Parts: sequence; C-alpha cells; structure tokens
Amino acid sequence: NPQRFAGQTAIITGAGSGIGKAAALRLAQEGANVALFDLLNDRTSETEQEVNAIRSGAARAFDVDVSDPARMEKAVLETAELFGGIDIVFANAGINGVVAPIEDLKIEEWRRTLATNLDGTFLTVKYAVPHLKKQGGGSVIITSSINGNRRFTSFGMSAYSTTKAGQVAFAKMASLELAKFKIRVNVICPGAISTNIDESTEKTDGLKEIIIPIKFPEGSQPLANGPGQPEHVADLVAFLASDESRHITGAQIVIDGAESLL
Ligand code: NAD
Repeated sequence: NPQRFAGQTAIITGAGSGIGKAAALRLAQEGANVALFDLLNDRTSETEQEVNAIRSGAARAFDVDVSDPARMEKAVLETAELFGGIDIVFANAGINGVVAPIEDLKIEEWRRTLATNLDGTFLTVKYAVPHLKKQGGGSVIITSSINGNRRFTSFGMSAYSTTKAGQVAFAKMASLELAKFKIRVNVICPGAISTNIDESTEKTDGLKEIIIPIKFPEGSQPLANGPGQPEHVADLVAFLASDESRHITGAQIVIDGAESLL
C-alpha cells in the first residue's frame, strides 16, 4: 500500500456518502488526513469512524453546508489549524435537486441546486486557495458529470445540468489563474455511479414522464467494467491528487465506461 499522501491533508466535500466517501477512504489509506465536509448525519459520522479505523485521528467530520459562506470559511480554517495545512481539495458535494419541466421549475428550486453545486464549488476553492498557496502548491479536483457536458438526455434536470457545465468552466478558469502558484485544478465527469444521489432528487408528479431512461442500442456494451462504483472514481481522484499527475491541470476527465458515447 503506497503512502503517496503521507503528511498531507485533504478537504473532501460530500464526504459522507458515495464518491466523496470512497475518496476519503482511498486518500486516508495512502496516508492523508481528511476533513470530511458534509451535512451532519449518520452516514458522515460512520465515514469518520471508518477512516479513523484505518488510522486513528486521520479523519474529522465537519458539519458544513457548502453553500454557506461563513460556515465554509470557518471549517476550512479549522481544518488547516487541526492538520497543519491543506494540500488536496476535492469539491464534490452535489444534489440533483428538483427535476421538473423548465416552465414548472420554481426559481427557489433552481437557486437551491445552483447554490449547492455551484456556490459550493466556488466557496470550497475560494477559501482553500490561500492555504494551498501557503503549502507551495496543491491539487484541486471538482466533480462535475457527463450530464451537462456530454449527455443531455436527463430531461427535467435543467438546473443540475447547468451547474455541471458551470463547474467545468470554473475549473478551467481556475487552472489558468492558479497555475503560477503550482496549484493544479482538474474536473471529473462521471457517468452513472452507484451512490445515494437519487435521494437528493426531489420528485415531482410528472417525474416519470420527464426522465427518459438511457437505452443503449441492442448489442452494445458501453460499460467496460460493469456499473460504475464510487471506488472507480476514487482511484481517479487519488491519481489526480498525487504527484503522478503533476503535468495534468485544466483537464476535464470523463469516467463513464463509454456511457456518454452512445
Ligand atoms: P451522494 O448523494 O451519495 O453523496 C453526496 C453527498 O453530498 C451526501 O453525503 C450529501 O449529504 C452531501 N451534500 C449534499 N448537499 C450538501 C451541502 N449543501 N453541503 C454539504 N454536503 C452536501 O451522491 P454522489 O453520487 O456521491 O455525488 C457526489 C458528486 O458526484 C455530486 O456532485 C454529483 O453531482 C456527482 N455525480 C454523481 C453521479 C452518479 O451517478 N452518482 C454521476 C455524475 C456526477
């Protein structure tokens, strides 16, 4: 088991479940201390315990709503004080939000999805940057999606898709702005991954008719490795966090078993 992140600290948002949780376990296995930013719930506490079972004291859960600027600023500062700096940032928290036809989507619903997915990404990076600079560099990874970048078939998800496209633009801008500080910024676009994300979908009456399930052409096998698992994505996150990807920044990396090619 390589210890590529020994002595390093990672902030992971949405760390209580799914992709964020898998990344927290993966980075901790390779020596990182991990600050788990999520809404306080049983899953987040369980993740904290699981990581601390790998190495005692490696994890600390922070009760944070990523769209809350004051809470984010404070939690980032506390992380730096607790672990002695910040080297890796995984801006990953996200929700599907309300799925509805555009004409029915309320402005409050639209704003809530944008607040979590876009404000959350911005605030995570904004408050972490001074600490990454202090360390002489670092790696930022942002979770977007193929939805909003390569595939536009999830009808009713206009707000979600807008945030996922926006995260790609933000990551590319940030990669250029931060390159001189040796801070790399990359954005990953997963396809369908088995997580709890569907719980974050606020169902409306017309939902079933709005979402068109992805149908793959007869005989095609898009998923090279079976349905996507959080651990598949965690392996990519670990690579992008590590020095092995030192020449990769501003990149948008699809991880979907070829799902979006169909
Ligand atoms: P998940 O629901 O299993 O985990 C997301 C976590 O984010 C949860 O623990 C949730 O509590 C947390 N979260 C939600 N709102 C928050 C807020 N305001 N503040 C702090 N934490 C908050 O889902 P996941 O699939 O692991 O999602 C992680 C990311 O992956 C999301 O950005 C999602 O859009 C993206 N993604 C998921 C898939 C998929 O198929 N699962 C595909 C492409 C992209």
